[in-house]
Amino acid sequence: MPTGVSIALLTCDLRVHDNPVLHAAARDDGPTVPLFVLDDAIREAGFVPPNRAAFLADCLEDLDRSLRDRGGALLLLQGDAVERTVRLAEALGGARVHVAEGFSGFGQHREQRLRALLGDRLTVHQAVATTVAPGALLPAGRDHYAVFGAYHRRWLLAERRKPLLAPRKLTLPQLPFTGLTMAAARDRLAAAGKPAPGLMAGGEGQARQRLRRWLGSGAVDDYPTLQDDLNADGTSRLSPYLHFGCLSATEAAHRATREGSPGAAAFLRQLAWRDFHHQLLAARPDCAHGDYRSRQDHWREDPAELDAWRNGRTGYPLVDAGMRQLLHEGWMHNRARMVTASFLSKTLYLDWRSGAEHFLRHLVDGDLANNQLNWQWVAGTGTDTRPNRVLNPLRQAERFDPQGEYVRRWVPELADVPGAAVHRPWQLPAADRARLDYPEPLVALDESLARFRRARGL
Ligand SMILES: Cc1cc2nc3c(=O)[nH]c(=O)nc-3n(C[C@H](O)[C@H](O)[C@H](O)COP(=O)(O)OP(=O)(O)OC[C@H]3O[C@@H](n4cnc5c(N)ncnc54)[C@H](O)[C@@H]3O)c2cc1C
Repeated sequence: MPTGVSIALLTCDLRVHDNPVLHAAARDDGPTVPLFVLDDAIREAGFVPPNRAAFLADCLEDLDRSLRDRGGALLLLQGDAVERTVRLAEALGGARVHVAEGFSGFGQHREQRLRALLGDRLTVHQAVATTVAPGALLPAGRDHYAVFGAYHRRWLLAERRKPLLAPRKLTLPQLPFTGLTMAAARDRLAAAGKPAPGLMAGGEGQARQRLRRWLGSGAVDDYPTLQDDLNADGTSRLSPYLHFGCLSATEAAHRATREGSPGAAAFLRQLAWRDFHHQLLAARPDCAHGDYRSRQDHWREDPAELDAWRNGRTGYPLVDAGMRQLLHEGWMHNRARMVTASFLSKTLYLDWRSGAEHFLRHLVDGDLANNQLNWQWVAGTGTDTRPNRVLNPLRQAERFDPQGEYVRRWVPELADVPGAAVHRPWQLPAADRARLDYPEPLVALDESLARFRRARGL
């Protein structure tokens, strides 16, 4: 029989505002244990590389502070999340457990194991990480949407819960064992390695401040015009906060809907993309590694080219700028992600998985649903209805970085090359070129385009 203690097992929801898991646990009769488990399996799978480890440490610290302000505290454990949670629940005399639904194969498996061990003492909450639960919107006769346009139209009309207030007061029970101190958790996370020098700071406080600036101060109004402008940096940069759940997507969507401007509508559309990819991964967890739609590709293997791409040394300045931004900030502008991903998978015709893996190692917002499925979208093995389009890095540079500022910011070797000339350093006079420590283009664009078209049988 439940004893009246409730555990809020926090996973993708490291926040006190609009957190259905914490909210429900706090509303049960009796005390609440907000729990986070540093899961060995996730770490061993390489899913907590330095940037996300450092960001996660910020999130946990911020969350613990907010919980303490309300009379609670975060219990931090390490090990197998299922085993640790169930052991705690039993030691508390049969506590109830609340958790957010999982999307990936790993998350779904965790949920099944918890269910098997806890039975009806487990409550799984939907629409915690997304605004619409995967599976809540379905086309006739299918278990997920495969076309974004149709999904988006349904998504705009979908019922959504109202954002929940943060619990005002929490009460902790007598705990049967002590957890890790925050300092110990930080140390363990820091063992992942040194984070990127320009990494954003994590935590719900940061997230709420950014959301206020983004929606409250008019920044979002310029979004439709600046969204693809690489130099303007005119996107919200909320992705890592959404990924770790220190910002609720439901609350962001709710506020944007209230705003009602064209900019807010464009921002909402991006949140719909996020939900779209989550519902796709939930229905097809195999797409974390396998093609959603195989194009019978026989990818090339070329470790030297892969290495040049990873290090921003392809000789195509826009591609290199994006890759260097990733290494410096642990984040990359969406347009640059598209250009660099197209360059790897179509221009070099290397397996999208090797690019996705590099992104996942460095992106602070790196997540299976958005990363793998965006990679597949670009590589043409995903849901893009024009799977064979190739983004030409020079044309992309002319459109989205016309004066070359973005390139000059991230590729210091080219900082003195003026204007749009920076996108074609090979056209500089030989004497100027010789002074630059910058590589020649790795491949010729027309030849690589022909190679790609042959490979796809076009
Ligand atoms: C190859 C590739 C890999 C990507 N990997 C990831 C990833 O691992 N994690 C991730 O969150 N996003 C990923 N994206 C999507 C997108 O690039 C980022 O979400 C966006 O750049 C984050 O910046 P922002 O918060 O300023 O976005 P904004 O433009 O302000 O958009 C608001 C929010 O909408 C969501 N969003 C925006 N674009 C997309 C999209 N195309 N797909 C899904 N959600 C979107 C994000 O949560 C974002 O924070 C990837 C895109 C590509 C092309």
